[in-house]
Amino acid sequence: VDASPSDRIAALLTSFPDCPEPGVVFRDLAGVYAEPGLLAQLAGHVTRHLGAGFDRILAVESRGFVLGSALAVLAGVPLTLARKPGKLPGPVYEAAYDLEYGSDRLELQKGAIAPGERVLCVDDVLATGGTLSAAAALVEAGGAEVAGLAVVVALAGLGGRERLSGHPLLALHEVT
Ligand code: AMP
Repeated sequence: VDASPSDRIAALLTSFPDCPEPGVVFRDLAGVYAEPGLLAQLAGHVTRHLGAGFDRILAVESRGFVLGSALAVLAGVPLTLARKPGKLPGPVYEAAYDLEYGSDRLELQKGAIAPGERVLCVDDVLATGGTLSAAAALVEAGGAEVAGLAVVVALAGLGGRERLSGHPLLALHEVT
């Protein structure tokens, strides 16, 4: 039975108001990851929905690494890490994205993704969509195709879905 994991995520998600700064409600997935078997269920849900529609996972540092690695194991596809600036050795592609104040960058090693591959970009939480749009830009910089975007939790009302509307997005739980 492919029961939606949304209710279990909702029950285990913890919210911290004004964290890390006033006005932001931090959604903490620690309880979701600590639940035995749930991470495997989440990865199973994504693979059943997307089938054989992707050849590689691109997981976003750092909390995207958790679902990303579970998915790579379950789907039997290669795992590649998109990292914060200065962490990856050798030549990299860079993609900048806006934060509320200032901007940040994600990097991908050149040659890590083969041209023409269909890549699934994975993160824990979708807020404004800046991070995942940078991940998608890295996939395209590598000559590959964005097969889709997957997150554990999507926060509504911050424009993320609209910003990422060019790609299929699978959110395992929506916070409205
Ligand atoms: P954004 O680029 O605005 O979509 O933000 C998504 C990234 O920032 C993800 O990597 C999240 O881990 C983190 N993030 C942003 N807002 C939150 C939040 N309210 N709770 C937890 N993580 C968040």
